[in-house]
Amino acid sequence: MTEPGDDAAHPTAPDDHADDHADNPGDTVSAPPTEAESVEDYYARIAAAAGDDGRLPVAVEEMPGWDIYPYELEGLRLKPIRPPADEEPQRRGEEQADCWCASAPSPDTDGTVVWTNTRWRLSLSRDTGLPIMLVLQPVEHHDLPTLPGDLAAEMGQLVVAVADAVEHVPSVGRVQLAKWGDGGAHLHLVFLGRPARMLQFRGSPLIDWEENLPRVPLEVLQANARVVAERMVVHVGGRAGDLGRTGPQG
Ligand SMILES: [Zn+2]
Repeated sequence: MTEPGDDAAHPTAPDDHADDHADNPGDTVSAPPTEAESVEDYYARIAAAAGDDGRLPVAVEEMPGWDIYPYELEGLRLKPIRPPADEEPQRRGEEQADCWCASAPSPDTDGTVVWTNTRWRLSLSRDTGLPIMLVLQPVEHHDLPTLPGDLAAEMGQLVVAVADAVEHVPSVGRVQLAKWGDGGAHLHLVFLGRPARMLQFRGSPLIDWEENLPRVPLEVLQANARVVAERMVVHVGGRAGDLGRTGPQG
């Protein structure tokens, strides 16, 4: 990657917006990225706040001190902060040819397909300590920042439908929604069913609790997911998955 030279002080709009400016050549970018902070400067501020061992103090006045925080404060300390890497690492399936979606759709051999239509697939996570944890993915290879508009619009409707369906699972009190993108490049939204009336599991520490809770048996997860599947079909069409109704698939 080349660094911008002195003559780059007035950056132009990205190429894909060039048409927007074709009729207005006097238009300029008013918030050039070069005026925003670099990650080196961001990191320098953290490093200045850390102790000699590179550790920041635990923010006991914030979430680590709240009732919902999973860990006790005694002995708790943060790992030393590392400086930025030289570059972002490649993720799984960064190129479409290397992604799971490049091969034919896998058959539902383990009864974890909850709901599908021709463009989206909602799957059950079978390794979870929550009453239900689901993953929504487009069938075609897309990441969130480059998702085409028609799929983006449909995703909005599906997020609402999945959220409604998960909150109709009897043992779920609230649905939480996560989008991480550091492991796999193919867009995947994660819906987490927070157990009903288990107030200690509220908020974002739910994901820390989840990994420590005993695994929920597959047949229980499938029964919960059938509630989701049927509401999805009613509200947005598509097809419900088998979810163990006919026993192990071969
Ligand atoms: Zn893909």
